[in-house]
Amino acid sequence: MAAKEYPPGEEPFRLTRSAAFVLAYPRGYCDPTIPISLIHYGLQPQRFFRSIHRENPVDVAYNLTVRAALANPKLKDCEWFVFADNDMGLTTPGIKPWLAAEEDVVGIMYELGPNNRTWGRPDAFHAGMWRGRRKVLEAIGPPWFKTILSADGCRIETCCCEWFARKVKTAGYSLGKAGWADHGSNDGHGNKS
Ligand SMILES: [Zn+2]
Repeated sequence: MAAKEYPPGEEPFRLTRSAAFVLAYPRGYCDPTIPISLIHYGLQPQRFFRSIHRENPVDVAYNLTVRAALANPKLKDCEWFVFADNDMGLTTPGIKPWLAAEEDVVGIMYELGPNNRTWGRPDAFHAGMWRGRRKVLEAIGPPWFKTILSADGCRIETCCCEWFARKVKTAGYSLGKAGWADHGSNDGHGNKS
């Protein structure tokens, strides 16, 4: 396969040009494989952050974390941002395809319980762990994540990740998924079963 051509000023994903944020509500716990793997593959340790927002639902915490990442003056030279739920379990064979993927936004796949089959859909994307280019996140703007409820408010129509995926693609950027992570007993949206 020929190497992808990047526009001027744009580079392939590198953790050395990234900052990482783990959603570590409520007590700051973070699966140790997350910093261990990311730092092993080039993330600078001082660019690893735990984000503890007590706001619910999860899309609010995601939005607050993306906004804080983009606004941090110490991270202005980061071209990329990584975001992860605190219970993602990373392995070398699982993370390597995710590191190598070429899209502007790339999610890693993980156990979704009864909804696991939805990974088979070409447009499936969930935000348990993902990375995105700064310029994409700045271009699409807030809200990055938004859960859409049914008209009567009694059912989740589309998860907040789907909103994000649509927004990225509508703005003309590429979005994909690669690799695999453990996600414990989580259903993929921060709800423990
Ligand atoms: Zn989702």
